[in-house]
Amino acid sequence: MVAGELPALDDVEVGSLPPERLLEVVAEEDREALRRGLQSAPALFAGRTVWNVNSTAQGGGVAEMLQSLVPYARGAGIDTRWVVIQGEPEFFAVTKRIHNNLHGAPGDGGELDAGARAVYDEVTAVNAARLRERIAPGDIVLLHDPQTAGLVRPLIGACATVIWRCHVGVDRPNELVRRAWDFLRPDVSAADAVIFSTRTFVWDGLDEERVHIIAPSIDPFAPKNYDLDRDAVSGILAAAGIEDNEAPGGAKFRRADGDAATLTHRAAMVESSRVTPKTPLVVQVSRWDRLKDPFGVMRGFIDHVVPHVSSHLMLAGPATAEVTDDPEGARVFEELRATWEAQEPDCRSRIHLATLPMDDVEENAVIVNALQRRAQVVVQKSLAEGFGLTVAEAMWKARPVVASALGGICDQVEDGVSGLLVDPADLPAFGAAVSRLFRDHDAAERMGEQAQARVRHEFLGSRHLLQYLELMAALIAG
Ligand code: UDP
Repeated sequence: MVAGELPALDDVEVGSLPPERLLEVVAEEDREALRRGLQSAPALFAGRTVWNVNSTAQGGGVAEMLQSLVPYARGAGIDTRWVVIQGEPEFFAVTKRIHNNLHGAPGDGGELDAGARAVYDEVTAVNAARLRERIAPGDIVLLHDPQTAGLVRPLIGACATVIWRCHVGVDRPNELVRRAWDFLRPDVSAADAVIFSTRTFVWDGLDEERVHIIAPSIDPFAPKNYDLDRDAVSGILAAAGIEDNEAPGGAKFRRADGDAATLTHRAAMVESSRVTPKTPLVVQVSRWDRLKDPFGVMRGFIDHVVPHVSSHLMLAGPATAEVTDDPEGARVFEELRATWEAQEPDCRSRIHLATLPMDDVEENAVIVNALQRRAQVVVQKSLAEGFGLTVAEAMWKARPVVASALGGICDQVEDGVSGLLVDPADLPAFGAAVSRLFRDHDAAERMGEQAQARVRHEFLGSRHLLQYLELMAALIAG
């Protein structure tokens, strides 16, 4: 497809939500700052629009956060929009390569050469021209991730204040990481501010004064995280076809706007036995991506958990056709299915692969919510991780987690206190940590409680909104 034939920019309609409700859940000591921030917002942003720009309306952590941060900002009286850029498969192949390289991985093994540059620039030019028609001088543009970095210079040229946010990174950069930095740096350096999720991700060669650290966050009221009692969890998992149970809770859930809804789509299961209410469960939820290491989770589970505890493992992720900016998902899932099929029947019967319906984002979210609450242990054994929203989500639900000791995960989990951290290459250690949480119920419960308290103070949307507000106020004043 010629880039000029790309469809129009996609405006994601997310409505507005009252940010005041966050006052009900934030830690006591954080309440006053939130109150003051909300009071100051309308005057500060009068006459300006804040644009969030990314490359997918669903699937992955960025979309997840925008689903609630944008409505809260609107509810705070800030004219905030969310626009999704368009691309074609070649463009997303290049941007996924950059994404993998920024994590130190080769991805499809392709180069970031003049050919990649031409593909990237051609699509970027079309999106830039379309955005420039809509953005007014004085507006603030928050661009997310490598897919949007090329927009920095054209939008600065339109007299907007431009912030680029990088949601990915590694603690120890290799040559692949550096070449991705080199590819993006001319664009990124031009931004008024650059945000990273954690200090270790900051690139070489950026103006330190423009660099800011803001950790991601979750929304406690979203379908992904709102409180579900045991019956509701059973009802949702039965309706989604994930667990066989009597389902007294039915298939009801609550949408982000408060409306009641009924779950209608089912997960596609790859399994040779069914999960029942008695089945102890280890769960990992993530996109079908090698860097989430579903293969390593399966191997570690078979070799180092199965011999010690009676748990089953469930690997859950999105229906692969629906995440448009992630061309590798379907391939990874098929490989995983083949790996599962190659296992001994006894092991196979203890492992379940669930692709969750994406027809309705909120329905997908509430299924993830129920699964995380249903799990005795939640794992996130990524080989690289920008932040790992799934970790914060599980912690908020007071689940004991076993997660990789890298990236933003180390900011979330204090090892041995609010969860367990492991070296993702050390499968015996991974298995031992999971088994320990099954054996030592008191420790598991204590870690779950600590985990929830930590998220309450550090990783709710209120803290995130206030940090954006402060940064934008400083840029406007400057
Ligand atoms: N997620 C989801 N449905 C799925 C798989 C993942 O809603 O089937 C969500 C998950 O709950 C989390 C986000 O996608 O909110 C993934 O964010 P994370 O930071 O963990 O990883 P990313 O995908 O951004 O690398």
